Amino acid sequence: MLNGEDFPIAIIGAGFAGIGAAIRLKQEGIESFTMFERASEVGGTWRDNTYPGCACDVQSHVYSLSFEQNPNWSRRYSTWQEIQEYLIGLVDKWGLEKHLRRNTEIVSAEFDEKNGTWALTTDEGDTFTARVVLSGVGGLVDPSYPKIDGIDDFSGDMFHTARWNHDVDLTDKRVAVIGTGASAIQVVPSIAPIVAKLSVFQRTAAWVVPKFDLEYSPRAKRLAARFPFLLRIARFFKYWLSELLGPIVFLDSKLLSRVGRAISMWNLRRQVQDPELQKRLTPDFQFGCKRVLVSDDYWATFERDNVGLITEPIGAIRSEGIETTDGELHVFDVIVLATGFLLGLAAAPFQIRGRRGRTLDEMWADGAVAYKGMTVSGFPNWFMMMGPNTGPGHTSVLVYTEAQIAHALQAIKKMIAEDIKYCDVRQDVQDRYNEGIQRRMKHMVWASGCHSWYLSSDGRNHSLYPGFAWEYVLRARHLNLADYEVAFFEDERQLDELETVEEGLAAAP
Ligand code: NAP
Repeated sequence: MLNGEDFPIAIIGAGFAGIGAAIRLKQEGIESFTMFERASEVGGTWRDNTYPGCACDVQSHVYSLSFEQNPNWSRRYSTWQEIQEYLIGLVDKWGLEKHLRRNTEIVSAEFDEKNGTWALTTDEGDTFTARVVLSGVGGLVDPSYPKIDGIDDFSGDMFHTARWNHDVDLTDKRVAVIGTGASAIQVVPSIAPIVAKLSVFQRTAAWVVPKFDLEYSPRAKRLAARFPFLLRIARFFKYWLSELLGPIVFLDSKLLSRVGRAISMWNLRRQVQDPELQKRLTPDFQFGCKRVLVSDDYWATFERDNVGLITEPIGAIRSEGIETTDGELHVFDVIVLATGFLLGLAAAPFQIRGRRGRTLDEMWADGAVAYKGMTVSGFPNWFMMMGPNTGPGHTSVLVYTEAQIAHALQAIKKMIAEDIKYCDVRQDVQDRYNEGIQRRMKHMVWASGCHSWYLSSDGRNHSLYPGFAWEYVLRARHLNLADYEVAFFEDERQLDELETVEEGLAAAP
C-alpha cells in the first residue's frame, strides 16, 4: 500500500467527484491522497443548495455512484438532504476523514517540470506537493447575481437559491422569484402554499416534462438491501432509457423536437387550464435548446390565487420591490434570486501555472478546452473531473465522472509502475479532439438559436458532450499513453549524465 510520501495525490473538492475518486483510489489500495475542501462540510452543490423543494431531477439510482449503490433512497428523485446524507455516509464508510482537509482552499498551483510535481498553495499560505492532481471543483458552484439597476437598494430580504437564508420565515410574506430555471421550478411550488403572494419573474419560458416521482415503500427498500442486484438492474434500465430518449433532448432534429414538445405541451395542458396563461408559459425556442426541466407541479402552481406570472421585463429594483419596464412597481417583502451560477468551466478555478510558465486562464482565453474534458496540454498530471464538454443534457453526470476517475486511475497506476515523471497530453491530439467536438456540436440542439448558460462568450458550447454518455465513456475510460508526451525519471537521469559528460568534455584540455 502506498503512503503519502511515496506518491502524493491531491484531490481538490469533496463533492461527488472528489469523494468518488477517493473511494476508487482506496479500492485500488492507494492511500497516498489528500482531499482539500474549501468549506467546513463535504457535499459540494448538495451542501450549498438547501432551498425548499431542492431535489435532484435525475433519478437516484443513476444519480449515485455505480460502486456505491444505495438501497435506502426514499423516492425516485431524492431530496438534497438525502443526497447529502449519502455523501457524508460515504466519507464515514470509507474512512476518508483522515485524508480530508476541511476549510482549506487551494488558491494557486504551479507545475515543477524538473521534479514532475505540482505545488499547491492553500489560503493559509501552506504549500502541498503532489505528483498528481485530481480536480473535482465542480462547474456550477458560485451563484450568479443578476446585474439589475438598484439591486442593493432593496430594503427587504434578498438571497440566492444557492445561498438560501433559512432565518427568513416566508409565511404570509409577499415574495418574488426571479428566474425560471431548474432551481426556480423547484422553489416555486414549495413555497407557494405558505406565502401571502408569490410573483414569478419570467424572462424566458422553459420546456418542462413530467417527473412521475414516487416514494419507495419500506418493502421495496428491504428487497433492494437484501438483493443488491435489483439495484444494478434498476440502474441499468434507467440509464439505458435515458440514453434511448437522449436524442430528443440533444439532437437538432425538428422531428425529435416535436416529440419532446408534444410531451411538454401535454404536461402544460394537464396543469394549466387558462389558454392565455398556457401561451405565456410556452417557450418560443426549440425543445432541448435550454436545459429541459422536470416537474409535475411547477406549472400547476400558477393556477393558485396567490401566484402570478410576470413577463414584463425587470427595469430596476427599488427599496420597496421590483419595477418592471412598464413603470409598475411590484411591492415585496422578500426577493429570491433563482438566477443560476457563474459558469465555473469558463475559467480556471484559481491560478494554475503549467509547463513553460503558462497559466490555464491564458490557455482558455478563447474558451475552455481539454482532451476528453480531462487533461490540458501543458498541464501534466492534472486530471479534471466534470471538465469542459463533459456535461450531459439527458442523463446523469456521474456516468461521465466515473469514466474520468477510471482514466486518471490508470494514469496513476502506470506512473507508479513505470516510473513516469509526467504525462502531458499532446497539443495536436487535444486540438483534433476538440475540432471533432465542435464539428458535432453543429448538429446539437443547443446551437439552434436560444440563449443559455451552456454557451460561452465566444458563442461556442464548452459545457456539454455532443452525444451519448456511453460514447463518452468508451472514449474516456481507457488511457492511451500514445496521446500523451511521457517523461520518465529515467530520461532525467540520462539527461543529467549527458550534461555531466558534456561538461566533462567542455572542461577537457
Ligand atoms: P439557470 O438555469 O441558469 O436559470 C437562471 C434563471 O434566471 C433563468 O430563467 C434566467 O433567465 C433567469 N435570469 C438570470 N438573470 C436574470 C435577470 N437579470 N433578469 C431576469 N431573469 C434572469 O439556473 P438554475 O435554475 O439555478 O439552474 C442552473 C443549472 O443547475 C441547471 O441547468 C442544472 O444543470 C443545475 N441544477 C440542477 C438541478 C437538479 O435537480 N439536478 C437543480 C437545480 C439546478 P433566462 O432563461 O432568460 O436567461
